[in-house]
Amino acid sequence: MMNLEFYRNLPKKECRECGCEIKEQHESYLYECEHCMRSQEE
Ligand SMILES: [Zn+2]
Repeated sequence: MMNLEFYRNLPKKECRECGCEIKEQHESYLYECEHCMRSQEE
C-alpha cells in the first residue's frame, strides 16, 4: 500500500530520486535533493 494520500496533503516536495524531503530554501524549481544533484554532476 502506498502513502499517496499522506504525501498529497503535504505542501513539501520530495526528491524524485531518493524520496527525501526537499528543503525549499534554495531554488524552488528543483526536483532532487542536494545529494542526488551532486551525484548526477559527477
Ligand atoms: Zn535525493
